[in-house]
Parts: sequence; structure tokens; C-alpha cells
Amino acid sequence: MDANKKKAMQGRVKKTLDALERNGMNAVYVNDKEEALTLVKSLVPEGAYTATGGSVTLNELGIMDYLRSETGWHKEYRDAYNASFYLVSANAVTEHGELYEVDGTSNRVSAMLYGPEKVIVVAGINKLVPDLRSAVVRVKTEAAPANCVRLSYDTPCAKTGECASPCFDENHLGAVGCQTDGRICCGYVVFAKQKQKGRITVIIVGEELGY
Ligand code: SF4
Repeated sequence: MDANKKKAMQGRVKKTLDALERNGMNAVYVNDKEEALTLVKSLVPEGAYTATGGSVTLNELGIMDYLRSETGWHKEYRDAYNASFYLVSANAVTEHGELYEVDGTSNRVSAMLYGPEKVIVVAGINKLVPDLRSAVVRVKTEAAPANCVRLSYDTPCAKTGECASPCFDENHLGAVGCQTDGRICCGYVVFAKQKQKGRITVIIVGEELGY
């Protein structure tokens, strides 16, 4: 990311980190990809029982390579519930300290909600949004279309670049979408105040990562 743009974002980053901490999550900012990988390696020891949710961000950072080669990484969705560390990204992180996640099979959101001892969420600075309304729009106009193209799913957003229902819908809280078999927006979860303080750690990386 351009240095001036990154500097200008620092106020929003701080606001977001403070809000995440108030919601019982650990929140850390790192400058770049290298720092992100170093931090993850320090948090997740070699040999640890790990699992992951599907994430372009984790691949881009080299985290998947580390987990597969140096830790006891489990691929099966059900194994994730007993993991010591579950690693994942976010579809959006709000300045109110919320994580917004939209999932197709819901393996990712379910493991984030309950099961693994620790959850580590790694998100590029491009995932920051002011509020939940913006988070919904972000998924419908950026994250989901790009992921549907990546996965070769025949959905409306893969063709037009936006959801069949692209706006925040007051009556459905953004949960209206397409009726195709390839729909990847099925479970909609907001992570707000955490009862288990410190179970979730959010790492914001000062670079554009993932969708
Ligand atoms: S509901 Fe369907 S069209 Fe809308 S973003 Fe999700 S996959 Fe795309």
C-alpha cells in the first residue's frame, strides 16, 4: 500500500484496535507481511494442533505454508473444533470493534464461535470498515464477487461484480442474496463482545490482503 495512504489510515486503525480490545479481543497492528508472519510464528508454536478457515490472506502471508510444514495442521473441518489454534481472516472489521463473517458451509464461522482454544484473525488494512452496514456492502460488492470468480461459482456476483441484492436491507440485515447452488453467503455472523476475554486475537496488517 502507498505510504501516504497507509499513514492516513493510522487514526482509523487505532480506533479499530481500541474498540476490539474493549470487546475482549487482543488487537495488534503490524506494518507488513513479514511482521505478520513473524508474529504468527511467535503466537503459534511449532508442533501445535492447528486448523484454518479457507483464506486467501493466510496464503498470501505464507502462514499456510508455515502451518502445514511446522505445526500439526488438520484439514478436516470437524477436527477444527479441538484445535489449540484456529487461524482465519475476516470479511470485514468495523471501527466499532466487530468482526463480520459470511460463510457458505459455516465451518469457518462455527469454529470461530466455539471450540478452538485460541482464534487468530489476520486481516489486511483493506478489510477495515466504519460500521456493519459498510461491512455488508463490502461483502456484497468486493469479497463475495472476487471469491466466486476465484472458485468458479456460477453466481450473479461473479458475472456483474455485485450481489443480486447489493444493498444493506433494513428488513433482512443484508442477508438477501441469490438463489443459486453456488451461493457462498449462507451464514452471517457478527463477533462483538467476547465472554472469553483474549480467546480471539486480531492482527491488522498494513497492506492490502485477500478479498
Ligand atoms: S448471495 Fe449470491 S450473488 Fe449475492 S454476493 Fe453471495 S454469492 Fe454473490
